[in-house]
Amino acid sequence: MSEEIFKKVVSHAKEYGFVFPSSEIYDGLGAVYDYGQNGAELKNNLRQYWWKAMVQMHENIVGIDAAIFMHPKTWKASGHIDGFSDPMIDNKDSKKRYRADQLLEDKITRYEKDGKTNKAEELQAALDQALLDNDLVQLKMLIEQHEIACPISGTRNWTDVRQFNLMFSTEMGAMAEDADKIYLRPETAQGIFVNFLNVQKTGRMKIPFGIAQTGKAFRNEIIARQFIMRMREFEQMEMQFFIRPGTQKQWYEYWKEARLKWHKKLGLGDDNYRFHDHVKLAHYADAAVDIEFNFPFGFKEMEGIHSRTDFDLRNHQELSGKKMQYFDAELDENGKPYGNYIPYVIETSIGLDRLFLATLCASYKEEEVGEDDKKDTRVVLALPPVLAPYKVAIFPLTKKDGLPEVAREIMGDLKLDYNCFYEEKDAIGKRYRRQDALGTPFCITVDHESLENKTVTIRYRDTMKQERISISQIREILAAEINWKNLLV
Ligand code: ATP
Repeated sequence: MSEEIFKKVVSHAKEYGFVFPSSEIYDGLGAVYDYGQNGAELKNNLRQYWWKAMVQMHENIVGIDAAIFMHPKTWKASGHIDGFSDPMIDNKDSKKRYRADQLLEDKITRYEKDGKTNKAEELQAALDQALLDNDLVQLKMLIEQHEIACPISGTRNWTDVRQFNLMFSTEMGAMAEDADKIYLRPETAQGIFVNFLNVQKTGRMKIPFGIAQTGKAFRNEIIARQFIMRMREFEQMEMQFFIRPGTQKQWYEYWKEARLKWHKKLGLGDDNYRFHDHVKLAHYADAAVDIEFNFPFGFKEMEGIHSRTDFDLRNHQELSGKKMQYFDAELDENGKPYGNYIPYVIETSIGLDRLFLATLCASYKEEEVGEDDKKDTRVVLALPPVLAPYKVAIFPLTKKDGLPEVAREIMGDLKLDYNCFYEEKDAIGKRYRRQDALGTPFCITVDHESLENKTVTIRYRDTMKQERISISQIREILAAEINWKNLLV
């Protein structure tokens, strides 16, 4: 995958109704995007894949939907008010602001691309150390030593590195004098922690158990780039798995492997994934790893797996004065109950938008088709059928002779179970191509022969093969391919 392909994917996403810049008629809003008619479908399907795998397939994981607004003390307890910041640096000539660590990460990627592996490793180690020590002076020094220039002005005229809190705030309450500063959640995890007791008690959950949720999160990212990779409003899919203290290593390994397996099942290419262990640990973690995906612009984080200890529940207990404990009646090796404790937590946290981008990039294909003077390029999104925005497109060959009626009848039968697309206009070849570009795995064409013997042509997206089948066979063929089982089992 190259950067050239990335540009094509971005324009494809716009042209085919997957992703639009937010409020585009006003020239957009930095790092905020809207999902269009096809993007919303694909995003829903990806969310469902996660939800089914995490909640439906696990008896001991349940899902919730907590509010975006939370009591401001939540963010004190979680450490976000004091510690959720990134190191920023400004270029004095272009007046552009950057994340100091990302300028250095980009340099590392550059070194890797140029085959300067030693330099890349050396800089990575120095960067990790500077971040570990929270050493802003050292970050600036690394930027200077590696002669990093501003991509806009081309100069190396930098300010000092400073910390910048990423949380958005607003006021709650109608009266200004009553106004209370609240935050737009920067992660969905805290909605789970504050509901730990509610869910545990009402669901009679026994440790180990998990609580999952999907939803919007907001971060005032210093620099937003690479399309939907880094947004200021994005969606997370998170699961907190509550465990007995002392078992965190084992469960951390378990979730690392389970999550990687889930990714690979999507079929975006096994070699496109790798683990990246964190050297610099977030304020809440005792171990952390990223699952990185090979995006067209290099391997970048798609999901984080964090061993969060009892940091969050313990702090919420302290600040709220409510006991965040669990009574474990199981017996230990001495025959005594484990008793009361604050559970430890393993978190899996994936960005839905990054998953969407990875899926789009890996599925986008340009293929040479036709022969000699009729050579042509077709664009196809080779999405797993169950994720495709439309599962089947139904075309009457012409608009007359009763063909639309038969096509509508087939659609009427299928649409309860599958998202179907209906189209009468244009030559059939053109209609097929449009569906290829949306990722629709099957097209059904109704022609005059259909009226005589109740058969249709089914066309397969990936092979472009066409087959004559009887109308009564359609469901069977679709069911075999459009099946969650193919991803979940
Ligand atoms: P990064 O280092 O890329 O800023 P992070 O380590 O801060 O990410 P986490 O706090 O671990 O990210 O969040 C979990 C997941 O949420 C990430 O793996 C990513 O998929 C997603 N995510 C985080 N920030 C953004 C963002 N600004 N836009 C889109 N997705 C995001």
